Amino acid sequence: MLAISKKISQILFPLISGLKGLMVLLVLLLINLSSKAQSGPYHVILERINADLQTLVKDKPLADEITRQLKSLNADGSWADIDYSDAQYDPLKRIKDMATAYIRPSNKLYQNAELYGAIVKSLQNWLDKNPKNKNWWYNDIFYPQAIGQTLILMRNAKTQLPVKLESALIERMIRRLKTGDGANTSDEALHFLYRACLTKNKATLDSAAKYLFEPIAIADGKEGVQADGSYYQHGKQQAIASYGRVFAGNSVNAAFYLRGTEYALPKDQLTILINYLKNTFLKTIRGFFYDFNVRGRGISRKDSLSSGLGVMVAKIKLFDPENAAYWDASVKRTSGLEPASYKITPTHHQFWKSGYTLHLRPAYTFSIQTASSRTLRTERGNNENILGKFLPDGATNIQRSGSEYANLMPVWEWDKIPGTTSRDYPDDGGATVLKDWGIPGTTKFVGGVSDGVYGISCYDLDYDSVQAKKAWFFFDREVLCLGAGIKSNSNENITSTVNQAWMRGGVVSSNGVQKNGKGEIWVMHDSIGYIFPQGGDLEISHKAQSGSWYRINHFQSKTELQHQVFKIWLNHGQHPQNASYQYIVIPGVDAAGLKNYNWSTIQVLKNTAELQAVKHSGLDMLQAVFYKAGTLVASGLSLQVDRPCTVYIKDLSAKSPTLYIADPAQEKANIKVLIKLPGLSKSKTIDCNLPTGAFAGATANFQIKE
Ligand code: CA
Repeated sequence: MLAISKKISQILFPLISGLKGLMVLLVLLLINLSSKAQSGPYHVILERINADLQTLVKDKPLADEITRQLKSLNADGSWADIDYSDAQYDPLKRIKDMATAYIRPSNKLYQNAELYGAIVKSLQNWLDKNPKNKNWWYNDIFYPQAIGQTLILMRNAKTQLPVKLESALIERMIRRLKTGDGANTSDEALHFLYRACLTKNKATLDSAAKYLFEPIAIADGKEGVQADGSYYQHGKQQAIASYGRVFAGNSVNAAFYLRGTEYALPKDQLTILINYLKNTFLKTIRGFFYDFNVRGRGISRKDSLSSGLGVMVAKIKLFDPENAAYWDASVKRTSGLEPASYKITPTHHQFWKSGYTLHLRPAYTFSIQTASSRTLRTERGNNENILGKFLPDGATNIQRSGSEYANLMPVWEWDKIPGTTSRDYPDDGGATVLKDWGIPGTTKFVGGVSDGVYGISCYDLDYDSVQAKKAWFFFDREVLCLGAGIKSNSNENITSTVNQAWMRGGVVSSNGVQKNGKGEIWVMHDSIGYIFPQGGDLEISHKAQSGSWYRINHFQSKTELQHQVFKIWLNHGQHPQNASYQYIVIPGVDAAGLKNYNWSTIQVLKNTAELQAVKHSGLDMLQAVFYKAGTLVASGLSLQVDRPCTVYIKDLSAKSPTLYIADPAQEKANIKVLIKLPGLSKSKTIDCNLPTGAFAGATANFQIKE
């Protein structure tokens, strides 16, 4: 379904082409506002839809295209190149385009008599043929939407469509509405809205408004927006900017069309929608590009990381003027008018329902996707995302400009996805695919702790006969990545991949030269530094890799591509039994800065399969993952927990530090913590009651006082 939805969203909300496009939209919106007072909601809504349908239309190419189509139109109103037994976007998209040109005074085909005849003829032909597609989506969503749009456009024509033809087409739009189906429900409700306004039917408008807004709710555990702000579709699977993008687009359009009328989005639902857009969805875009972790199986489609949200965000501003400054900044940042860092404030989100972590700094975005026994692994299916089986195994998306991975997927080595630990196959693991869709994760200790700015994430990996305890420690300038207990009895070499991105400029490295006598290695590429404090069997490749989109998605082009790729990974060898790794990622640094970078402020206190703990003396914080109940002892402090958990202590040496704690397994309601800290005269026991229900796995915090 997504493939189709993505296409229609491109038809409905064309990509913004810079500032000029935005200005056109704003002018249309203002015209729209001025007519608001004239009559009831039907007229106002129709005018808004009409303006929306014409946003960013380019008259010249549109007229050229239609002139071509007119030449090949048969006398009976059909086109020879269309298979009406399997009609997809055409002919209805073609007819809609003709209606658009016909009603636009700026178009050279405006009020063209031949064009009018062609519109009537081709619509009549559609009625007579009554095409049905094997895919329900065309029949129940696309066809009625496209017919509705054409009729709305033609209401602006000087010569209206024959009344009989219009009524028959409106009749043809009627479908039974399938409720409770998330983005699909709002897609269907949209043509109900069209029909309601065309016929001025209150009952139809009542149900259209109801179902357009139905998906705007917290759907704990079901498909839709979750309590942590993430989005599920196809079961308990993170779908923030895949299906979540369809949800966002439809909901924004509905709120935009109905704003200021008696059908306006109710306040409580408006809050849910705004939170989703502001605190989740828009944060997954860096510069112009999505985080590759939020596009689901769409990662295997060309241009799927491109965002293009200018039109959508301009609409949001009109029904949510309170956050206007935020929306303006988003448009500037994602359209290239301002740099990717523009008005980014440091935040850290641990999405405990979806196994997704998002760490934002002005200089970079760093995210992780994991799977647990509570969620589904990133889906493959429909011959899409064919090689994506390791995507939920701790994939780390590291962006500075945003474009680091854009359209690189055809040539990716798919068993070296950034951040993951896996077997290194000769064929990227493609031959060992057993099952499509709906594969649950295997372990429960997956999640993390967060104070909203800093945090820790952990992933108990057990997939494809590889086990590891992986953890990430998030600070300001850097992210520390630890792996321990790496084990496999398979025959392949086991690797942990640090990154695999577009090659940009040269690679500078210490080349194995020892610094401080510690065997440390550092590497710098594309303004991102990597430090391996304990060295390791490190490999760096910077050369061309080849592949095609078809290789990862059979709906895509077979053209063989070749791109320059920077790839960096650690070898753990064959049959590792207790291997480990440590590396620090420092985004936003040059070679000189990296050479002088003082990583001794970050102290790895422990990196074992039972406990991974780090102290950051610069930020005065301690972060730990206890895979088992136990005690951490380090100079001047001790920390004991009676159950597995993730713990983070802020203001470690102060008189009143803060303890942040969460249970990644989401099973324990209470954890006892015994601490002895430098700023406290005696040890303290803290009885931590943790959140439950939809919030199990979320962070609780406790102020510690003398
Ligand atoms: Ca390989």
